[in-house]
Amino acid sequence: MKPLDAQRVIVTRRLPEPVEALLRDRLDATLNTHDEPFSAEALIAAGRKADVVLCTVADRIPDAFFGAPRRARALVNFGAGVDHIPLELARAAGVVVTNTPDVLTDDTADLTMLLLLASMRRASEGERLLRRGEWRGWTPTQLLGTRLTGKTLGIVGLGRIGTAVARRAHAGFGMRVRYVSRTAKRVDGVPLERCDLLDELLASCDAVSLHVASTPETRALIGRRELALMRPGAVLVNTARGDIVDEAALIEALRSGQLAGAGLDVYAREPHVPAELAALPHVTLLPHLGSATNETREAMGRRAVANAEAILRGEPPPDRVV
Ligand code: NAP
Repeated sequence: MKPLDAQRVIVTRRLPEPVEALLRDRLDATLNTHDEPFSAEALIAAGRKADVVLCTVADRIPDAFFGAPRRARALVNFGAGVDHIPLELARAAGVVVTNTPDVLTDDTADLTMLLLLASMRRASEGERLLRRGEWRGWTPTQLLGTRLTGKTLGIVGLGRIGTAVARRAHAGFGMRVRYVSRTAKRVDGVPLERCDLLDELLASCDAVSLHVASTPETRALIGRRELALMRPGAVLVNTARGDIVDEAALIEALRSGQLAGAGLDVYAREPHVPAELAALPHVTLLPHLGSATNETREAMGRRAVANAEAILRGEPPPDRVV
């Protein structure tokens, strides 16, 4: 490991202890022991000092990172989505960007099912009613939701996580699965129906789950027009990125009853959650927990360390995005 000692890695957030132990053991890494988020200036300063900046989705990398005098030759992201990094600027500046795909697929798909179930079976609404002390006992008509079995789930973006959701929804819950993606897909054991157009999917599903990456093409993909196309009483689940949905339009669609509910793990301006959204009874709101298990966060850390090590050795990193 000696040749790596001359290299420096700056880590922007606290990571699970086993990952920090690995970083201390294998790399010359400066850890963020206070877990204070880095400002834009601190990110630029990290790029000036370190060969590798190990960042997270909570670090919006400023454009100036690439313009300023810089030592960093890589941004090693602890996470799959890289929409917080200006990829074109990174490419132009010759800064390598890596991510940690695959290892978080199952847990994010599980959390998607949790939000789908919670939305269709009104779980959060029921839990909040009970905690408020308003439960008067079982009644035949209280908080009636929608059965999942036999219903149609529409998946927008059949990538790794979308595919894992399709498997769970079909095999575990007896749902029909439709999808839109730029390319046709096959998933063993899951009869998939491909929709050519997003509009067709929205109009024909009881629940819609978003799994596209956030890119200039997918931002605000689901707006007022798209929400109006959804079946009355359908639910929307988003564990991808908040800016794929127009939040103001979603609030309107929930208020009007066009949608029966929504399950969200991500928001357009995290950690800000619109008060109007939080005030609605029929939404389940989670604080970006998709990959939040001990197992996955450790696996993400191992993958990020492997990417950093490869870069510092001058080898191609396993998870290069740019
Ligand atoms: P993935 O395998 O790369 O799948 C991404 C999907 O996005 C693919 O279906 C791809 O379509 C689609 N896509 C990409 N660019 C597109 C474009 N310009 N227009 C239309 N579709 C586009 O990624 P993944 O591992 O499934 O993760 C998906 C996203 O989930 C990540 O980007 C991240 O933002 C989010 N995520 C969230 C959490 C969480 O904690 N909530 C955890 C992990 C990931 P094609 O199949 O047609 O190429």
